[in-house]
Amino acid sequence: MSNIPERTKCLIIGSGPAGYTAGIYAARADLKPILYQGLQPGGQLTITTEVENFPGYPDGITGPEMMEDLKKQCERFGTDVRWGIVTEVDFSERPYRVKADDGKEILAETVIISTGATAKWLGLESEKKFNGYGVSACATCDGFFYRGKEVAVVGGGDTAAEEATYLANLCSKVYLIHRRDELRASKAMQHRVFRTPNIEMVWNSVPREIVGGQTVDGVIIQDVNTGEERRLDVEGFFVAIGHKPNTELFKDVLDMDELGYLITKPDSTATNIPGVFAAGDVQDKTYRQAVTAAGTGCMAAIEAERFLGELI
Ligand code: NDP
Repeated sequence: MSNIPERTKCLIIGSGPAGYTAGIYAARADLKPILYQGLQPGGQLTITTEVENFPGYPDGITGPEMMEDLKKQCERFGTDVRWGIVTEVDFSERPYRVKADDGKEILAETVIISTGATAKWLGLESEKKFNGYGVSACATCDGFFYRGKEVAVVGGGDTAAEEATYLANLCSKVYLIHRRDELRASKAMQHRVFRTPNIEMVWNSVPREIVGGQTVDGVIIQDVNTGEERRLDVEGFFVAIGHKPNTELFKDVLDMDELGYLITKPDSTATNIPGVFAAGDVQDKTYRQAVTAAGTGCMAAIEAERFLGELI
């Protein structure tokens, strides 16, 4: 391990659309950014199949291909994209001191955090097996493939309610499976769900198994009160039981909401620490789209550049 820390004007932590877009902008602004890709290089999009809603790809593109394109674009302007995980941050004084699992220590004038969020899964074996083949954690990303088909959503919060109503516009029928007899979602979202004729509530039930051949053709659910099992014939199964922002590293350092999402200043990506910015899903529990993540990545790089400019 080298004892001499590296220096950079801008360190980017995380490599989804937010991190890579920040890299493109920061590199073009001559900040010579270093980007650590993190645990899942490319982020959540690398576990989806087709992406059809990112502007600029009229024929769609797969998630992994799109992330590879963003990475190349980032590197073309000189971002130093590194395989590795940031393990420690010290934001007590500038330049900020960051350690990575490749043994490097970096002194960064500014830091952009784009570590994303991770969808929670039920933990079923079959859920893993069919991931991308009928199982999804994002209706806006994958709903289109189930046009005219019957699908199921599991969860009872705002995300599940939103996913179910979104899918109801595309699919012939949506089963909304919830483990209790009332939704956690806001009243407004509940009304939308109950008003939608092709959403059928499946109360007090939990999925036990997702079944199919190459792709999903059904889900076995169990009534939590009677123990009775039955099968729903669905071709799509959407898990919407919440996300977990990847913010462990910043606990007690950066301001977070009660769910662990980083709090940024209004109309800005600035956190409570000057020169530390947050972009993408790590600070966004509402939109969670690749294009909105890219947008805030761009904002963060511009804000980092202005922050440095103001110090001169
Ligand atoms: P929530 O944590 O609010 O809801 C998760 C839901 O999944 C709950 O109904 C929970 O059941 C259920 N659940 C959790 N674990 C399991 C499990 N293992 N098996 C079965 N069911 C399970 O997450 P959301 O993603 O819905 O929302 C997160 C936050 O983001 C909330 O504050 C929400 O209001 C906000 N949000 C706002 C939106 C908007 O304003 N448009 C859109 C989306 C989210 P139970 O109720 O029994 O605990």
